[in-house]
Amino acid sequence: MYMLPPAGRPAEEILNDLLSRKSQDTDSSSSRLWSLVYYHSEELLRLAQQAYAYYISENALNPMAFPSLRRMENEILGIVKSILHAPASAAGTLTSGGTESIFLAVKTARDYARRYKPHLYQPEIILPASAHPAFDKAAHYLGLKVVHVPVTSTGEVDVRAMEAAISEQTILLIGSAPSYPHGVIDPISDIAALAQKYHLLCHVDACVGGFILPFLEKNGVELPSYDFRVEGVTSISADLHKYGYTPKGASVVLYRERSLRRYQFFIYSGWSGGIYASATFSGTRSAGAIAAAWSVLQYLGESGYREAARLAWETTQRIRSAVSKIPELYIVGNPHATILAIAAHAPLDIYRIGDALAQRGWFLDRQQNPASLHLTVTAGHARVVETFIQDLAAAVEEEKSRMQRSGWRRRAGRALLRTGLAVLPERWIRGVARLISRTAQSNQPPRRTAALYGMMAALPKQGSVEKLVEDFLDKALEH
Ligand SMILES: *Cc1c(COP(=O)(O)O)cnc(C)c1O
Repeated sequence: MYMLPPAGRPAEEILNDLLSRKSQDTDSSSSRLWSLVYYHSEELLRLAQQAYAYYISENALNPMAFPSLRRMENEILGIVKSILHAPASAAGTLTSGGTESIFLAVKTARDYARRYKPHLYQPEIILPASAHPAFDKAAHYLGLKVVHVPVTSTGEVDVRAMEAAISEQTILLIGSAPSYPHGVIDPISDIAALAQKYHLLCHVDACVGGFILPFLEKNGVELPSYDFRVEGVTSISADLHKYGYTPKGASVVLYRERSLRRYQFFIYSGWSGGIYASATFSGTRSAGAIAAAWSVLQYLGESGYREAARLAWETTQRIRSAVSKIPELYIVGNPHATILAIAAHAPLDIYRIGDALAQRGWFLDRQQNPASLHLTVTAGHARVVETFIQDLAAAVEEEKSRMQRSGWRRRAGRALLRTGLAVLPERWIRGVARLISRTAQSNQPPRRTAALYGMMAALPKQGSVEKLVEDFLDKALEH
């Protein structure tokens, strides 16, 4: 077992240890990852680090304790209100991330319904199939039922199906701006109109879009309406730690009416420690994330965000045009912004193209229905896009000639697709490969496939993919 060192170690030694451990990971500033990291520039990172360090010890739990933090929070909220065209009556809170913002919007809808529709026995929320699982997670924690509505071939939620799904128990309609899987903005005006017609709340998930759509729009890109300018939208979530390029731990949830925000709060007056009040899910809150977020907003300003949006947009267009020249590939749906999903026409297997890209040092997450590779294009990717495009074309050629050479692996790939395992993220597969290190070395199929076969062999007969992933999570979090 790994234990606390009996005596403390010298700081320098620890920092060297950290750097050497970190050197095993993909370099987050290399823009070789197409998810998880939103890289802008070294200068921005240094500012954020410094700002974070200034506030490393403070705690934003109590808004009265550190007035400078409360001021920064209010200023950040003011900024987000203005970029999302919120009316003066709007109010919100700063949270630790998109999941918390979404959790709070759903909790607010639940408690609002408890107040105004106390007769409901199983409240439901309705979301597009493409909406982020944070909604399913929130509903899971909050005891709500989730109704998923399919998306059309262009990737937008089917509004007629959404209307048909509305029942006596419905409390909240959801749309994404844009969706994470395919980068498509749902028809927010139509969803919000339904919400008004049936007296429901309407949440727009602009977690990933909140800090890029407004600046794309300012740059002249035509977009469907998605923010508080759409009547009937009652709340919006927008992450700072994505296209806001701020360090992790910063997001915003906003309500059109300040009175709605009260349903989010939690107050307990019976505690022996005093009266406990908290506006969000978290208790103790990182002041560093707030100070760093405020600093990055100041550093970039409107022109900086517009420039970052321009770079991400042009890089996205560059990739789209390259994909359109590769007949075996296509873009899923009709993405509106800077998120793309690349799929392959049968019989080419897009996951294998993902493997070939991984061998060239690119990391793209795998998606399903349809099978595709995901790209969140950021300003940082502008530097590497030409190399990526060359590698993508090379990966397709490689896969085509491999298929001509060998029939069995193609069939094997299809079998894996049917099991639903092939979609598991690359990092997990590599983790499993390490866990079941006995995987075949002799007959040389690509490492990922070998690992997948290992997992299939380890599957209990009645086991579902969920169960396997549950086991894997349990194993990965060792202690
Ligand atoms: C990232 C994301 C979320 C969840 O945000 P976290 O910060 O990862 O908790 C929710 N919705 C969309 C559309 C996202 O892209």
